[in-house]
Amino acid sequence: MTNDNGNDGAALVHKLEAALGADLVLSGADVARYCSDWHGDVETGAVAILRPRTTADVSACVKTCAALGLSLVAQGGNTGLVLGAIPDAPARQVVLSLERMSAIRRIDADDFSAVVEAGAILSEFKDKVEEAGMFFPLALGAQGSCRIGGNVSTNAGGINVLRYGMTRELVLGLEVVLPDGSVFEGLSTLRKDNRGIDLKQLFIGAEGTLGIITAVAVKLMPMPEQVATALIGLNALDDAITLFRRARRDCCDLLSAFEFMPPLAFTLAQEAIPDLVMPMDGGYPAYVLMEVSGSGLVDIEDLLQRFLENVLEEGLVVDGVIATSRDQARKLWLFREGMNEGQAKRGPHLRTDVSVPLSRLADFVRDAEAAVYAALPDCTCVSYGHVGDGNVHLNVLPPASLSRAEADARIYKAKTVVNAVLDTYSGSISAEHGIGRLKKPDFEARLTPVQRHLLGAIKTAIDPTFVMNAGCQLNYTGDSGQS
Ligand SMILES: Cc1cc2nc3c(=O)[nH]c(=O)nc-3n(C[C@H](O)[C@H](O)[C@H](O)COP(=O)(O)OP(=O)(O)OC[C@H]3O[C@@H](n4cnc5c(N)ncnc54)[C@H](O)[C@@H]3O)c2cc1C
Repeated sequence: MTNDNGNDGAALVHKLEAALGADLVLSGADVARYCSDWHGDVETGAVAILRPRTTADVSACVKTCAALGLSLVAQGGNTGLVLGAIPDAPARQVVLSLERMSAIRRIDADDFSAVVEAGAILSEFKDKVEEAGMFFPLALGAQGSCRIGGNVSTNAGGINVLRYGMTRELVLGLEVVLPDGSVFEGLSTLRKDNRGIDLKQLFIGAEGTLGIITAVAVKLMPMPEQVATALIGLNALDDAITLFRRARRDCCDLLSAFEFMPPLAFTLAQEAIPDLVMPMDGGYPAYVLMEVSGSGLVDIEDLLQRFLENVLEEGLVVDGVIATSRDQARKLWLFREGMNEGQAKRGPHLRTDVSVPLSRLADFVRDAEAAVYAALPDCTCVSYGHVGDGNVHLNVLPPASLSRAEADARIYKAKTVVNAVLDTYSGSISAEHGIGRLKKPDFEARLTPVQRHLLGAIKTAIDPTFVMNAGCQLNYTGDSGQS
């Protein structure tokens, strides 16, 4: 393996070890586990894996790589779904893993804030915050593995966006190592600070293309003392949208989650978790998993109970179950989480993460599914997602009997069909997951000249030599200085 500078892999590893110390550098067989994606669909390689322990280490890694002509691919939990955290040019790239920078620097309940290093695992951080009597609302299926720096770099969403916003809205400050090794020290916890352009915003959702986030200051919330969860059966997806509008108003805007699922969700979840028991007798064309939460003087369970009684009486809802314990609520959520694993078990499939205006969500699902079935009658559509955010995962499963090449052809065709319908709705090809390397062609094809110019100008101003995650987001080659 020889890179553009004429260095072979072993020589580069030797130079990295000489500059940084052997403790920070992994090479050889150890590289592989950092170089395949979460689904195991793609396996690449890297010159080495760098594992800093401090911000100063990260700075040294960046300066050394820049001097050697290597690009750094930052990696948190590697749960991203768009190939942002694994190299695409193994002879020219290193992975910089934040896994050894996981300290919680401070939890300040009086300030409703915390400062945490980028490598902290989300669920572990949430547990520590809870021990301090507070709540960090970011919640996603990958929270046992993803890391805070990855969450910020992808501007992660998840099930609580409806109430608390995307990660961007939870970030108060950042510490970032820039492509020249200098440190942007912005770990402020101020709520209001209008001193010109808010520079930290540049790094949120940048997928490691502008710098390496080493620590994050976040907002904390009071822990919701009461959470009520219900699974609801409906006659149609349109009814889910009507129900959402009603629920926001009638439940005093205390909704914290509102997810829709098709009937197939339960089959898929049971394929992944066989002992899951369906909590309703009948089968319905659409389902909603809804959560209302709060603290203080409101009786949340009573609120949800009365709401459900009303909508059942009116015929908007056909059936509903309210969890009577935390354990039951957890089991209802397992259907939502298990369906992802169930789809993975059925083999390679199209996973989309699109958004449309909330009021048009049901129309979009109907039109896009009809277009997919017209083009690919032997495939199965599974549409689910966050109603309140207009965010749909319209996934397409090819028949299990197909060869890998045949399945890949179906997946490509399905993506083209879904995106064509999405464009007619002025939707987004990436509601939550980012661009990475997977969505780059579709992203670039939809950029206006002005957007492309601005993105290129920001990149070349901050990272003129393409040290940070070359190959991710736009086609920054490092050769022409242009995107
Ligand atoms: C089962 C499952 C469920 C999921 N559910 C959701 C969901 O509901 N909502 C959602 O938004 N996403 C979801 N995801 C996607 C994924 O979990 C998120 O994108 C998550 O935020 C990625 O965090 P990570 O630490 O794994 O990042 P990684 O995968 O390691 O990296 C993601 C990107 O961020 C960059 N990066 C990582 N750390 C840093 C850093 N410190 N500094 C600079 N750049 C960095 C990487 O280079 C890469 O481009 C899900 C994934 C899985 C597997």
